[in-house]
Amino acid sequence: MNVLEVASLEKKYKEKHAVKDITFHLERGKCTALIGPNGAGKTTTLNMLAGLITPTNGMISTPDHAGDIRAMIGYLPQYPSYFEWMSGMEYLIFSGEITGLTRKEARHRSEELIKLVNLSEGQNRRINQYSGGMKQRLGIAQALIHQPKLIILDEPVSALDPFGRREVLNLLNKLKEHTTILFSTHILNDAEQVCDDVLFLYNGELIEQGPLTDIKARHHSPSLKIHIEGDLGPYREVLEELSWVRQLKVEKESMTIEVEKLNRDRSRLFTLISEGDWPVAKLESSDQSLEDLFMKVMR
Ligand code: ATP
Repeated sequence: MNVLEVASLEKKYKEKHAVKDITFHLERGKCTALIGPNGAGKTTTLNMLAGLITPTNGMISTPDHAGDIRAMIGYLPQYPSYFEWMSGMEYLIFSGEITGLTRKEARHRSEELIKLVNLSEGQNRRINQYSGGMKQRLGIAQALIHQPKLIILDEPVSALDPFGRREVLNLLNKLKEHTTILFSTHILNDAEQVCDDVLFLYNGELIEQGPLTDIKARHHSPSLKIHIEGDLGPYREVLEELSWVRQLKVEKESMTIEVEKLNRDRSRLFTLISEGDWPVAKLESSDQSLEDLFMKVMR
């Protein structure tokens, strides 16, 4: 069952197409990552879904919800702003009352959410004393206050340090069990850790979409990763000349070699290594990361 369906959605600013004719759906209970580089159109898309800006064209529908779409959506903007003199608890109760809860209901729900997002310790501190990670978790709690069917989070982890990112990613993994999530990011490693489905947005267009496992299978290409001690230069030159090397990605101490046939080309590489006495520290089959996949699809 789909929570949200989007058909031919478009946003144009004068001559500039921020989002061009995108069609996708969000399945209930799934976590979907909207991925794209800066300026791809992620915020514009999410703002249209959240009812904050009006599309130039297209349809957004909610198959199992009639009436104002905002009643079923919880939203965390890319740059949330808070009444920083409030405590986290006061802010949540206030947010609950705005959505129509009574004060008693809002307090009860806020107490549940404070526990869920692991803010019990700081619940009575002013928000201006919160860390970035605490603010993001408070923002997620705010998005959940009216028990929405779908939460939309715009770059919830991008501005955080590794600790804050880990806290928020853990929280998303926990929320996935009960809520449909759509979140945008340009940090692909983060997306890979929590999402089931992906939407690849580039230059306002959806260039690939679907379950991450299916997309990985569709674009799979066998790869070998070789770690070499010392200067990679001479070995890189040899590999670049080989007809069976389809792509070579060079990192600081390793090279990832996209090959045609894993078994055959691994044997060929072994021969090269032993005949040339290459100083190999490690050789492994390489799994394709979401980043590799995105680069490949973009190309
Ligand atoms: P980022 O990761 O940097 O936040 P994004 O993927 O969220 O980027 P958007 O903010 O949606 O991208 O912007 C998409 C494009 O639309 C950009 O080229 C941007 O300059 C343009 N754009 C966005 N809002 C407006 C506006 N109000 N007027 C004119 N152009 C706009």
